[in-house]
Amino acid sequence: MYREIRKGRTIMGRLAKGVDLLAALEQVCRETGVNLGELTAIGAVSKARVGYYDQERRVYAFEQWDRPLEILSLAGNVSLKDGGPFVHAHVTLADDRGRGFGGHLAEGTAVFACEFVLREYLSEKEYVRAPDADTGLSLWKDAG
Ligand code: ZN
Repeated sequence: MYREIRKGRTIMGRLAKGVDLLAALEQVCRETGVNLGELTAIGAVSKARVGYYDQERRVYAFEQWDRPLEILSLAGNVSLKDGGPFVHAHVTLADDRGRGFGGHLAEGTAVFACEFVLREYLSEKEYVRAPDADTGLSLWKDAG
């Protein structure tokens, strides 16, 4: 499914030290009323937790790093799930040697510093996540 959408507001800011990265981004969406959009961010975290989706077993395996890391890139989107804004984001992180790794951003990632840009989009029809039988993931449903 896809459709043409329009640009809305652009919100730029930074997150407070110590907050959970994923939860804080969702809070920004709730506070600004963004239900559809795109997110980019850079910064650093004091610890990180990311998921890798096991396509055969249909479960996320989580990896956790309890050490300072750079956020080389965070790319994500915002849509509706369970009646509120839901952030789906992937991060590329780097360690003190510049080695990169990452995955599906999960709760448990603590912000050291984070600068983000949230771009709102406007659509005639909502983007709502619902269980997808083909993948086991929660994906956008075609509202018809
Ligand atoms: Zn993902």
